[in-house]
Amino acid sequence: MKLTEILNNGKFTLSFEVFPPKTWDSFKSVKEATEQIAKIKPSFISVTYGAGGGIGDYTVDIAENIEKNYNIPTLAHLTCVSSNKEIIAKKTERIKNAGIENILALRGDLTSEILEKRKNKLNGYDYNHATDLIKELKQKGDFCIGGACYPEVHPESGNSKEDICYLKKKTEAGCEFFITQMFFDNNLLYNFLYKLREAGITVPVVAGIMPITSAKQVERAVKLSGSFMPQRFKNLVDRFGHNDLAMKQAGIAYATDQIIDLYANGIENVHVYSMNKPEVAQSIKNNLSHIIEND
Ligand SMILES: Cc1cc2nc3c(=O)[nH]c(=O)nc-3n(C[C@H](O)[C@H](O)[C@H](O)COP(=O)(O)OP(=O)(O)OC[C@H]3O[C@@H](n4cnc5c(N)ncnc54)[C@H](O)[C@@H]3O)c2cc1C
Repeated sequence: MKLTEILNNGKFTLSFEVFPPKTWDSFKSVKEATEQIAKIKPSFISVTYGAGGGIGDYTVDIAENIEKNYNIPTLAHLTCVSSNKEIIAKKTERIKNAGIENILALRGDLTSEILEKRKNKLNGYDYNHATDLIKELKQKGDFCIGGACYPEVHPESGNSKEDICYLKKKTEAGCEFFITQMFFDNNLLYNFLYKLREAGITVPVVAGIMPITSAKQVERAVKLSGSFMPQRFKNLVDRFGHNDLAMKQAGIAYATDQIIDLYANGIENVHVYSMNKPEVAQSIKNNLSHIIEND
């Protein structure tokens, strides 16, 4: 099923992100974790993809299993920063044959390794930005295509106006919805949405929420996303960070609170970065059970 059918129907959607195994050794355990998450019956599941690209990854295998055996719509992430047209053609063919109708079209991070390879033109790089990939995917098949957006501005962007101008270009190229980078202060999303609508961007924007379940994860999440940590959240980490179980409970409660506030303010689509942790996904769903049921 195409995600635009789900995201545009005026009902609350709760979806989860999972990541594929890096090697075959962990395929079975990752597959099982993603199956547990599928059994929670989310609105859809997205499966990430390494920025290093290549054709030997497991994104499609994990998504195909969820789509075919659990009947949950999936969204396959696809990055282009390390790719050429040939790799993308093979990838999209594989996605199509797996029965997956949705692709999150991304550039991927410009790591020093990738920048070095691109400088030396080791691979024939055909894409500079996600927009280039979106245009290409539009020609390749009947996919529903989404893109990434950043309530706190992408770190490479000069300012929010410039960033939003490129998001508009994504929609003009065929991007039908956005999923946001994680954020820990809902006001950042409300301000961002206002600016998007002002710029004439009307596609659904799915709010990305990361339940922080350990003190270690805080540092990693901030480093990866550059997201602002409100004092209210820092207080939780200071108070409970040394106690794993307490931190997990507090992190899930904080994420639940964010989701309820979003829904109360008219945001109907929420994507949870549950990181292959079925118990975290299940707790969030349980915490929202009456809210979702009464919808
Ligand atoms: C929801 C979500 C899911 C993600 N999933 C993955 C994943 O599975 N794998 C992974 O490796 N990474 C993932 N990422 C990270 C993402 O790849 C990085 O944030 C990356 O740095 C930018 O990707 P993008 O698609 O937003 O790039 P782009 O849209 O290309 O934007 C990158 C920067 O370039 C600017 N820009 C855009 N278009 C142009 C243009 N035409 N000319 C000049 N400047 C332009 C933008 O303003 C921005 O500053 C994800 C991010 C999000 C928010």
